[in-house]
Amino acid sequence: MNQTLLSQEQQELLPVLLLEWYDQTRRILPWREDPQPYYVWLSEIMLQQTRVEAVKPYFARFLETLPTIQALAEASEETLLKLWEGLGYYSRVRNLQKAARVVMGEYGGELPSNPLLLEKLPGIGSYTAGAIASIAFGVPVPAVDGNVLRVISRVTASREDIAAPKCKRNMEQEITKIIPENRAGDFNQALMELGAMVCLGNGEPKCLCCPLQRICEGYRQGVAGELPVKAPKKPRKIEERTVLLLHCGDTFALRQRPKKGLLAGMWELPSLDGKRSREEVKGWLQEQGAQVLSVREVPVATHIFTHVEWHMTGFFSELSEPLPEFFWADSNALEQQYALPSAFKAYFPELGLKKGKRSR
Ligand code: SF4
Repeated sequence: MNQTLLSQEQQELLPVLLLEWYDQTRRILPWREDPQPYYVWLSEIMLQQTRVEAVKPYFARFLETLPTIQALAEASEETLLKLWEGLGYYSRVRNLQKAARVVMGEYGGELPSNPLLLEKLPGIGSYTAGAIASIAFGVPVPAVDGNVLRVISRVTASREDIAAPKCKRNMEQEITKIIPENRAGDFNQALMELGAMVCLGNGEPKCLCCPLQRICEGYRQGVAGELPVKAPKKPRKIEERTVLLLHCGDTFALRQRPKKGLLAGMWELPSLDGKRSREEVKGWLQEQGAQVLSVREVPVATHIFTHVEWHMTGFFSELSEPLPEFFWADSNALEQQYALPSAFKAYFPELGLKKGKRSR
Protein backbone atom coordinates (compact mmCIF):
# COMPACT_ATOMS: atom_id res chain seq x y z
CA MET A 1 0.00 0.00 0.00
CA ASN A 2 1.18 3.51 -0.80
CA GLN A 3 1.90 5.14 2.56
CA THR A 4 1.40 8.85 3.09
CA LEU A 5 4.93 9.90 3.97
CA LEU A 6 6.55 13.27 3.73
CA SER A 7 10.22 13.11 2.69
CA GLN A 8 12.86 14.81 4.81
CA GLU A 9 12.98 17.73 2.37
CA GLN A 10 9.20 18.09 2.41
CA GLN A 11 9.13 18.04 6.20
CA GLU A 12 11.68 20.85 6.35
CA LEU A 13 10.36 23.07 3.59
CA LEU A 14 6.59 22.63 3.70
CA PRO A 15 5.93 24.73 6.86
CA VAL A 16 8.29 27.50 5.71
CA LEU A 17 6.93 27.81 2.17
CA LEU A 18 3.33 27.49 3.29
CA LEU A 19 3.49 30.11 6.06
CA GLU A 20 5.37 32.56 3.82
CA TRP A 21 2.56 32.26 1.27
CA TYR A 22 -0.14 32.49 3.93
CA ASP A 23 1.31 35.66 5.43
CA GLN A 24 1.16 37.33 2.04
CA THR A 25 -2.16 36.10 0.68
CA ARG A 26 -4.49 34.97 3.47
CA ARG A 27 -8.12 36.04 3.30
CA ILE A 28 -9.45 38.37 5.97
CA LEU A 29 -12.25 36.48 7.71
CA PRO A 30 -14.14 37.69 10.79
CA TRP A 31 -13.40 34.59 12.87
CA ARG A 32 -9.76 34.73 11.80
CA GLU A 33 -9.19 38.32 12.86
CA ASP A 34 -10.55 37.74 16.37
CA PRO A 35 -10.01 34.01 17.03
CA GLN A 36 -11.86 33.72 20.32
CA PRO A 37 -12.68 30.09 21.10
CA TYR A 38 -16.45 30.60 20.71
CA TYR A 39 -16.01 32.36 17.35
CA VAL A 40 -13.65 29.70 16.00
CA TRP A 41 -15.97 26.93 17.14
CA LEU A 42 -19.08 28.54 15.64
CA SER A 43 -17.34 29.27 12.33
CA GLU A 44 -15.98 25.73 12.07
CA ILE A 45 -19.43 24.22 12.64
CA MET A 46 -21.02 26.57 10.09
CA LEU A 47 -18.26 25.88 7.55
CA GLN A 48 -18.73 22.09 7.73
CA GLN A 49 -21.18 22.02 4.84
CA THR A 50 -21.20 25.62 3.63
CA ARG A 51 -18.88 27.93 1.67
CA VAL A 52 -17.00 30.77 3.38
CA GLU A 53 -18.86 33.55 1.56
CA ALA A 54 -22.24 32.08 2.44
CA VAL A 55 -21.26 31.63 6.10
CA LYS A 56 -20.20 35.28 6.72
CA PRO A 57 -23.71 36.83 7.10
CA TYR A 58 -24.96 33.86 9.15
CA PHE A 59 -21.96 34.14 11.44
CA ALA A 60 -22.55 37.88 12.03
CA ARG A 61 -26.28 37.44 12.63
CA PHE A 62 -25.75 34.50 15.01
CA LEU A 63 -23.28 36.42 17.17
CA GLU A 64 -25.45 39.52 17.19
CA THR A 65 -28.29 37.47 18.70
CA LEU A 66 -26.22 35.03 20.78
CA PRO A 67 -22.93 36.79 21.59
CA THR A 68 -21.72 34.35 24.25
CA ILE A 69 -21.66 30.62 24.97
CA GLN A 70 -24.07 31.32 27.83
CA ALA A 71 -26.55 33.03 25.48
CA LEU A 72 -26.27 30.05 23.11
CA ALA A 73 -26.88 27.60 25.97
CA GLU A 74 -30.01 29.50 27.03
CA ALA A 75 -31.50 30.23 23.56
CA SER A 76 -34.94 28.88 22.66
CA GLU A 77 -35.10 26.17 20.02
CA GLU A 78 -37.14 28.48 17.76
CA THR A 79 -34.43 31.17 17.90
CA LEU A 80 -31.71 28.64 17.17
CA LEU A 81 -33.46 27.12 14.18
CA LYS A 82 -34.36 30.54 12.80
CA LEU A 83 -30.72 31.65 13.00
CA TRP A 84 -29.71 28.48 11.16
CA GLU A 85 -32.49 28.60 8.57
CA GLY A 86 -30.98 28.18 5.10
CA LEU A 87 -27.72 26.59 6.32
CA GLY A 88 -29.30 23.12 6.51
CA TYR A 89 -28.07 20.13 8.52
CA TYR A 90 -29.89 21.36 11.61
CA SER A 91 -28.36 18.69 13.85
CA ARG A 92 -25.27 20.92 13.75
CA VAL A 93 -26.94 23.78 15.61
CA ARG A 94 -28.69 21.42 18.02
CA ASN A 95 -25.35 19.86 18.92
CA LEU A 96 -23.84 23.33 19.23
CA GLN A 97 -26.37 24.14 21.92
CA LYS A 98 -25.97 20.76 23.68
CA ALA A 99 -22.22 21.37 23.79
CA ALA A 100 -22.72 24.94 25.05
CA ARG A 101 -24.76 23.55 27.94
CA VAL A 102 -21.98 21.07 28.80
CA VAL A 103 -19.44 23.91 28.64
CA MET A 104 -21.58 25.99 31.02
CA GLY A 105 -22.10 23.05 33.40
CA GLU A 106 -18.64 21.47 33.38
CA TYR A 107 -16.15 24.13 32.30
CA GLY A 108 -17.51 27.33 33.82
CA GLY A 109 -18.56 28.71 30.41
CA GLU A 110 -15.06 28.48 28.82
CA LEU A 111 -14.23 25.96 26.09
CA PRO A 112 -11.38 23.65 27.15
CA SER A 113 -8.14 23.93 25.16
CA ASN A 114 -7.38 20.19 25.31
CA PRO A 115 -8.44 18.58 22.00
CA LEU A 116 -9.33 15.32 23.78
CA LEU A 117 -11.82 17.16 25.99
CA LEU A 118 -13.14 19.16 23.02
CA GLU A 119 -13.76 15.92 21.13
CA LYS A 120 -16.05 14.72 23.91
CA LEU A 121 -18.46 17.63 23.30
CA PRO A 122 -21.50 16.96 21.07
CA GLY A 123 -20.88 17.72 17.39
CA ILE A 124 -17.09 18.07 17.72
CA GLY A 125 -14.97 15.49 15.88
CA SER A 126 -11.20 15.24 15.61
CA TYR A 127 -10.98 17.88 12.87
CA THR A 128 -13.02 20.53 14.72
CA ALA A 129 -11.26 19.77 18.01
CA GLY A 130 -7.89 20.25 16.28
CA ALA A 131 -9.04 23.47 14.63
CA ILE A 132 -10.31 25.02 17.89
CA ALA A 133 -7.32 23.87 19.94
CA SER A 134 -4.77 25.14 17.43
CA ILE A 135 -6.44 28.34 16.18
CA ALA A 136 -7.96 29.60 19.43
CA PHE A 137 -5.38 28.25 21.92
CA GLY A 138 -2.21 27.67 19.86
CA VAL A 139 -2.01 23.95 20.76
CA PRO A 140 0.20 22.19 18.15
CA VAL A 141 -2.26 19.53 16.95
CA PRO A 142 -3.38 18.80 13.38
CA ALA A 143 -6.79 19.68 11.93
CA VAL A 144 -7.28 17.45 8.91
CA ASP A 145 -10.32 18.22 6.76
CA GLY A 146 -11.07 17.40 3.12
CA ASN A 147 -8.85 20.23 1.88
CA VAL A 148 -5.89 19.01 3.90
CA LEU A 149 -6.41 15.39 2.82
CA ARG A 150 -6.30 16.54 -0.80
CA VAL A 151 -3.21 18.73 -0.43
CA ILE A 152 -1.17 16.13 1.45
CA SER A 153 -2.26 13.33 -0.92
CA ARG A 154 -0.96 15.39 -3.81
CA VAL A 155 2.23 16.60 -2.14
CA THR A 156 3.13 12.98 -1.30
CA ALA A 157 1.55 11.48 -4.49
CA SER A 158 -0.35 9.13 -2.19
CA ARG A 159 -2.91 6.76 -3.67
CA GLU A 160 -4.42 5.84 -0.32
CA ASP A 161 -8.21 6.11 -0.23
CA ILE A 162 -8.88 9.38 1.63
CA ALA A 163 -12.30 8.09 2.70
CA ALA A 164 -10.57 5.44 4.84
CA PRO A 165 -10.07 6.39 8.52
CA LYS A 166 -6.57 4.92 8.41
CA CYS A 167 -5.55 7.43 5.75
CA LYS A 168 -6.69 10.34 7.91
CA ARG A 169 -4.81 8.95 10.91
CA ASN A 170 -1.63 8.65 8.82
CA MET A 171 -1.94 12.24 7.69
CA GLU A 172 -2.53 13.46 11.22
CA GLN A 173 0.67 11.72 12.27
CA GLU A 174 2.61 13.24 9.38
CA ILE A 175 1.34 16.74 10.13
CA THR A 176 2.07 16.36 13.84
CA LYS A 177 5.75 15.93 12.86
CA ILE A 178 5.93 19.25 11.04
CA ILE A 179 3.44 21.57 12.73
CA PRO A 180 5.35 24.62 14.07
CA GLU A 181 5.03 24.95 17.86
CA ASN A 182 4.61 28.71 17.73
CA ARG A 183 2.24 28.98 14.75
CA ALA A 184 0.01 25.91 14.96
CA GLY A 185 -3.23 27.75 14.19
CA ASP A 186 -1.76 29.65 11.24
CA PHE A 187 -0.22 26.46 9.87
CA ASN A 188 -3.51 24.55 9.96
CA GLN A 189 -5.39 27.46 8.45
CA ALA A 190 -2.73 27.85 5.77
CA LEU A 191 -3.09 24.20 4.71
CA MET A 192 -6.88 24.57 4.51
CA GLU A 193 -6.53 27.88 2.68
CA LEU A 194 -4.19 26.31 0.13
CA GLY A 195 -6.76 23.57 -0.48
CA ALA A 196 -9.56 26.12 -0.83
CA MET A 197 -7.73 28.65 -3.03
CA VAL A 198 -4.94 26.88 -4.98
CA CYS A 199 -4.87 23.09 -4.68
CA LEU A 200 -8.49 22.87 -5.79
CA GLY A 201 -10.60 19.74 -5.93
CA ASN A 202 -12.18 18.18 -9.01
CA GLY A 203 -8.80 17.65 -10.66
CA GLU A 204 -8.07 21.36 -10.97
CA PRO A 205 -4.98 22.25 -8.93
CA LYS A 206 -3.43 25.61 -9.82
CA CYS A 207 0.11 24.26 -9.59
CA LEU A 208 1.70 27.14 -11.48
CA CYS A 209 0.94 29.57 -8.67
CA CYS A 210 1.39 27.16 -5.79
CA PRO A 211 4.01 27.82 -3.08
CA LEU A 212 4.55 24.06 -2.64
CA GLN A 213 5.21 23.29 -6.30
CA ARG A 214 8.96 22.67 -5.84
CA ILE A 215 8.37 20.02 -3.17
CA CYS A 216 5.17 18.51 -4.60
CA GLU A 217 5.56 14.90 -5.69
CA GLY A 218 2.15 14.82 -7.38
CA TYR A 219 3.16 17.78 -9.54
CA ARG A 220 6.60 16.30 -10.28
CA GLN A 221 5.07 13.02 -11.43
CA GLY A 222 2.34 14.82 -13.43
CA VAL A 223 -0.43 13.03 -11.49
CA ALA A 224 -1.73 15.85 -9.26
CA GLY A 225 -5.04 16.12 -11.15
CA GLU A 226 -5.77 12.40 -10.57
CA LEU A 227 -5.38 12.73 -6.83
CA PRO A 228 -6.66 12.23 -4.22
CA VAL A 229 -8.11 8.74 -4.58
CA LYS A 230 -11.54 8.41 -3.03
CA ALA A 231 -13.66 5.26 -3.05
CA PRO A 232 -17.10 5.94 -4.57
CA LYS A 233 -19.94 6.45 -2.11
CA LYS A 234 -23.02 4.26 -2.02
CA PRO A 235 -25.69 5.77 -4.27
CA ARG A 236 -28.31 7.86 -2.45
CA LYS A 237 -31.73 6.38 -1.80
CA ILE A 238 -34.48 8.07 -3.81
CA GLU A 239 -37.76 8.81 -2.02
CA GLU A 240 -40.84 9.97 -3.92
CA ARG A 241 -43.07 12.28 -1.87
CA THR A 242 -46.22 14.22 -2.53
CA VAL A 243 -46.07 17.56 -0.70
CA LEU A 244 -49.34 19.16 0.39
CA LEU A 245 -49.62 22.95 0.53
CA LEU A 246 -52.89 23.10 2.42
CA HIS A 247 -54.30 26.62 2.57
CA CYS A 248 -57.23 27.76 4.68
CA GLY A 249 -58.10 31.45 5.21
CA ASP A 250 -54.67 33.03 5.41
CA THR A 251 -52.95 30.04 7.03
CA PHE A 252 -50.99 26.99 5.85
CA ALA A 253 -50.79 23.52 7.39
CA LEU A 254 -47.56 22.44 9.09
CA ARG A 255 -46.59 19.39 11.05
CA GLN A 256 -43.59 18.49 13.17
CA ARG A 257 -41.21 15.74 12.12
CA PRO A 258 -40.32 12.89 14.49
CA LYS A 259 -37.76 13.69 17.22
CA LYS A 260 -35.23 11.30 15.65
CA GLY A 261 -33.86 10.88 12.13
CA LEU A 262 -33.74 13.18 9.12
CA LEU A 263 -34.66 16.83 9.98
CA ALA A 264 -35.48 15.67 13.52
CA GLY A 265 -38.14 17.77 15.24
CA MET A 266 -38.35 20.34 12.40
CA TRP A 267 -41.56 21.85 11.12
CA GLU A 268 -42.45 20.69 7.63
CA LEU A 269 -45.18 20.79 5.04
CA PRO A 270 -47.36 17.67 5.29
CA SER A 271 -46.67 15.05 2.66
CA LEU A 272 -47.76 11.63 1.49
CA ASP A 273 -45.46 8.79 0.48
CA GLY A 274 -45.07 8.15 -3.22
CA LYS A 275 -46.06 10.15 -6.27
CA ARG A 276 -49.81 10.85 -6.09
CA SER A 277 -52.15 12.28 -8.73
CA ARG A 278 -54.42 15.30 -8.23
CA GLU A 279 -57.41 12.97 -7.83
CA GLU A 280 -55.62 10.82 -5.25
CA VAL A 281 -54.70 13.92 -3.21
CA LYS A 282 -58.25 15.21 -3.35
CA GLY A 283 -59.58 11.77 -2.33
CA TRP A 284 -57.11 11.53 0.58
CA LEU A 285 -58.09 14.99 1.86
CA GLN A 286 -61.78 14.10 1.70
CA GLU A 287 -61.10 10.88 3.62
CA GLN A 288 -59.60 13.04 6.38
CA GLY A 289 -62.88 14.99 6.49
CA ALA A 290 -61.72 18.09 4.59
CA GLN A 291 -64.06 20.28 2.51
CA VAL A 292 -61.85 20.71 -0.56
CA LEU A 293 -62.48 23.89 -2.56
CA SER A 294 -59.70 23.35 -5.12
CA VAL A 295 -56.53 21.36 -5.84
CA ARG A 296 -53.88 22.47 -8.30
CA GLU A 297 -50.49 20.99 -9.10
CA VAL A 298 -47.36 23.10 -8.41
CA PRO A 299 -43.91 22.51 -9.96
CA VAL A 300 -41.99 19.36 -9.02
CA ALA A 301 -38.89 19.79 -6.86
CA THR A 302 -35.86 17.78 -5.75
CA HIS A 303 -33.83 18.05 -2.57
CA ILE A 304 -30.58 16.21 -1.97
CA PHE A 305 -29.58 15.16 1.56
CA THR A 306 -26.41 13.26 2.38
CA HIS A 307 -27.92 9.79 1.98
CA VAL A 308 -31.38 10.43 0.52
CA GLU A 309 -32.89 12.37 -2.35
CA TRP A 310 -36.46 13.63 -2.11
CA HIS A 311 -38.26 13.82 -5.43
CA MET A 312 -41.33 15.92 -4.69
CA THR A 313 -44.61 16.39 -6.48
CA GLY A 314 -46.62 19.26 -4.96
CA PHE A 315 -50.31 20.22 -4.77
CA PHE A 316 -51.79 23.48 -3.52
CA SER A 317 -55.20 22.78 -1.98
CA GLU A 318 -57.73 25.31 -0.78
CA LEU A 319 -59.77 24.05 2.19
CA SER A 320 -62.86 25.63 3.74
CA GLU A 321 -61.97 24.50 7.30
CA PRO A 322 -58.55 23.68 8.82
CA LEU A 323 -57.89 19.99 9.46
CA PRO A 324 -57.31 19.57 13.21
CA GLU A 325 -54.41 17.12 12.89
CA PHE A 326 -52.17 19.87 11.49
CA PHE A 327 -50.77 23.07 12.97
CA TRP A 328 -51.80 26.19 11.01
CA ALA A 329 -49.62 29.28 10.56
CA ASP A 330 -49.86 32.40 8.39
CA SER A 331 -47.01 33.70 6.19
CA ASN A 332 -45.95 36.14 8.87
CA ALA A 333 -45.59 33.40 11.51
CA LEU A 334 -43.78 31.24 8.96
CA GLU A 335 -41.40 34.09 8.34
CA GLN A 336 -40.84 35.06 11.98
CA GLN A 337 -41.21 31.90 14.03
CA TYR A 338 -41.23 28.59 12.22
CA ALA A 339 -38.08 27.63 10.37
CA LEU A 340 -39.00 25.45 7.44
CA PRO A 341 -36.09 23.34 6.15
CA SER A 342 -34.62 24.43 2.82
CA ALA A 343 -35.81 21.08 1.42
CA PHE A 344 -39.10 22.94 0.86
CA LYS A 345 -37.49 26.05 -0.67
CA ALA A 346 -39.14 25.46 -4.05
CA TYR A 347 -42.51 25.99 -2.34
CA PHE A 348 -41.63 29.20 -0.45
CA PRO A 349 -43.16 31.49 -3.12
CA GLU A 350 -46.45 29.56 -2.86
CA LEU A 351 -46.35 30.14 0.92
CA GLY A 352 -45.79 33.87 0.52
CA LEU A 353 -42.08 33.52 1.35
CA LYS A 354 -39.18 34.30 -0.88
CA LYS A 355 -35.75 32.86 -0.03
CA GLY A 356 -36.90 32.87 3.58
CA LYS A 357 -38.24 36.45 3.31
CA ARG A 358 -41.88 37.38 3.18
CA SER A 359 -42.85 38.48 -0.32
CA ARG A 360 -46.45 39.50 0.09
FE1 SF4 B 1 -1.52 21.04 -5.14
FE2 SF4 B 1 -0.26 21.51 -7.46
FE3 SF4 B 1 0.45 22.75 -5.22
FE4 SF4 B 1 0.97 20.20 -5.53
S1 SF4 B 1 1.80 21.88 -6.75
S2 SF4 B 1 0.16 21.18 -3.70
S3 SF4 B 1 -0.82 19.55 -6.65
S4 SF4 B 1 -1.49 22.96 -6.30
